[in-house]
Amino acid sequence: MKVRADIAELLRAGTPHIEIARQLHVRRDTVRETHKALRLPAPVRGGGSPHATVEDAYRAHAVPAADGHVTWTGYGVGTRAVVCHGGRRIAVQRVAFRLHHGRDAEGRLTRTCTMPGCVAGAHYADRRIREANARSDRAFAAIFGGPR
Ligand SMILES: [Zn+2]
Repeated sequence: MKVRADIAELLRAGTPHIEIARQLHVRRDTVRETHKALRLPAPVRGGGSPHATVEDAYRAHAVPAADGHVTWTGYGVGTRAVVCHGGRRIAVQRVAFRLHHGRDAEGRLTRTCTMPGCVAGAHYADRRIREANARSDRAFAAIFGGPR
């Protein structure tokens, strides 16, 4: 059979069949046949996420890109990208933020880079970071003069 490269790639990453079928809009039979054709080890049984932690699930679908950006190959796109773990769906940006900053995000997250769909933890600011930035902008303006 002809093996689709996108299916093969997700299979090699250990993505469950049902997730591949959903992501790529293909039949589960097609995924199963591809799995067989590639002679990969048996799929993960029992459904659910094959990843031990939410962070593992993030890393499995986060692909580093140029300039520190990260593209997302898991569920959802852009601000609706989610990490599926233990039957829960968690916003990818929150997981990425926690991984990068070592704490949970406070309030809304805003992307600080210009790459659409980027999910790099370093490229998001939460309320605490925005407030700190606003403070240093005011201090800068007070010292050097700024827009009034
Ligand atoms: Zn970015």
